[in-house]
Amino acid sequence: ASTAPTDFIRDIVAADVAQKRYPKIITRFPPEPNGYLHLGHAKSICLNFGIALENGGVCNLRMDDTNPAKEEVEYVEAITDDINWLISGWADKRIGLTTPHAHPAPATIDGKLDYHLPAANISGNAESQPGAFSPFFASDYFDALYAYAEQLILKGKAYVCDLSPEQTDEYRGAPDKPGKPSPWRDRTIEESLDLFRRMKAGEFPDGARTLRARIDMASPNVWLRDPLLYRIRHTAHHHAGDKWCVYPLYDYAHCISDYIEGITHSICTLEFVAHRPLYDWILEALDLPRPLPHQYEFAKLNLAYTLFSKRRLMRLVKENVVNGWDDPRMPTIAGIRRRGIPSAAIRNFAYNIGVTKYDSLTELAVYENAIRDELNATAHRRMAVLKPIKIVLTNIAPGETIECRATNHPGNPDLGTRPVELTREVFIEADDFAEVPPPKYFRLKPGGEVRLKYACIIKLDEIIKDADGRLVELRCTADLTTRAGQPNVNRKVKGTIHWVSAASAIDAEVRLYDRLFTVPEPGADDNYLDHLNPSSVETVTAKLEPSLADAAPDARYQFERLGYFTIDGKDSKPGALVFNRTITLKSK
Ligand code: ATP
Ligand code: MG
Ligand code: MG
Repeated sequence: ASTAPTDFIRDIVAADVAQKRYPKIITRFPPEPNGYLHLGHAKSICLNFGIALENGGVCNLRMDDTNPAKEEVEYVEAITDDINWLISGWADKRIGLTTPHAHPAPATIDGKLDYHLPAANISGNAESQPGAFSPFFASDYFDALYAYAEQLILKGKAYVCDLSPEQTDEYRGAPDKPGKPSPWRDRTIEESLDLFRRMKAGEFPDGARTLRARIDMASPNVWLRDPLLYRIRHTAHHHAGDKWCVYPLYDYAHCISDYIEGITHSICTLEFVAHRPLYDWILEALDLPRPLPHQYEFAKLNLAYTLFSKRRLMRLVKENVVNGWDDPRMPTIAGIRRRGIPSAAIRNFAYNIGVTKYDSLTELAVYENAIRDELNATAHRRMAVLKPIKIVLTNIAPGETIECRATNHPGNPDLGTRPVELTREVFIEADDFAEVPPPKYFRLKPGGEVRLKYACIIKLDEIIKDADGRLVELRCTADLTTRAGQPNVNRKVKGTIHWVSAASAIDAEVRLYDRLFTVPEPGADDNYLDHLNPSSVETVTAKLEPSLADAAPDARYQFERLGYFTIDGKDSKPGALVFNRTITLKSK
């Protein structure tokens, strides 16, 4: 539906395509499996998959899993599932992998060491099945990364350093404080190679030694002050098992993983600008035979009233502030799915906000309107009453049913109509009645008239209360001549309200959500738990029109005048339905 946007990264790709710089455009999305994906990640996914799709290219999903301490299989599975959901119906036919767990094999091109994936894994993939998209793992490249590290040592571009982690930090200095060289910097190639092999063999404890690049301790860019490439961690890895006790650091693993996969454009967020010289240095130092990937940076998504940080979202989960990563109030893709937000809305949102080089805060209304636009166009209309009060239509006999027709979508007659039954007793929304109406109140009031949508005009005759003064029911007269096909159908009253028949309505639990935080920038400091909205969820027992008894788990409905709703995929059961409100009809 959306036409492809333009932005500075797409301009760069377009120029590379025009110059035939690469046979195929290959991007990647590289999450670390240490938590669930959030809407910020979705921006990056839409950018990377979008560029591949628009250019007949490929986008790889790669688990950036080089830190064994924080990563878990649960996250690998959740991330893969969420990405399949996000791109399904959009990109799954064109991009994605056919062969997971590909281990690159060593080869020699022009006398130079080369590791790359078998071509079948990175080309075409036209046969990939929807939902069958599988990830690559950076940890599958551990052998290649290790072999390249030995190459760097042999070229005199890396050395084993015996400084402790604290000493390493101290020697590195700071942007305004010069670094000083490690005493081990001039160790011989033979000694470094021997020590590195013994590090790998498990001879030394955690933290005893590191492998470092030999770059420039005086560089104004601290990332170039002999950065760490490998450290010792006697920890098993969720994917690689217990084979390794040395693990590569992010900057070292990332650029080489990109190269192994044949990535052309390695797109990341702005905090990596300062890492780019290191990305280029490592690849150039290795003297590789194939074209090198290049890194480009864009601004992260920041959304008002929303927290984006896996670490902080994890705390909300661990401290039971929310009911898990997929709580519908969470900005995670899992939460977004469960809340009923369509993937197309997320992709349209990502397109609408664009890609820039400057950090900014996106208004919540921009996100909410992308959701409303998509749901307004696609969701079937239904009637439901969230906070019911009873109406008795005294001129309709008990047991009598008057069939009316409701349209399923006002803008799309192809979606058809359905019957709704008018009966003697109906429910309306408590808010649609006022005993003492404020000025300009056009809903039901003493002596007043209102139209029941798709049915007829009713007039309030009598308010019945119990001994304690509580409302029991409203007695009204239905003007049946104002129904469709009847002579007075065009008679006008100022208010039209929704309703359901008390005889056929079904009960359902409906969960109404509000924003999780009360301040526009909850992530501004570590006190975000102080800014929680105490009423971010309200649960009501609603009355629904009976056609909703068969609501499909992934169907989305507009409950007229109330918002968009979907079945809660986890808690809803036949006969005990649970609906989530995805979003209201208007911003607050
Ligand atoms: P977080 O800090 O939320 O945990 P991260 O950047 O550490 O995020 P990764 O798993 O490393 O999480 O992210 C994978 C990719 O998603 C990276 O390329 C990263 O730049 C991108 N990304 C993360 N957050 C955002 C965001 N808010 N907007 C756009 N892209 C993002
Ligand atoms: Mg990261
Ligand atoms: Mg992080």
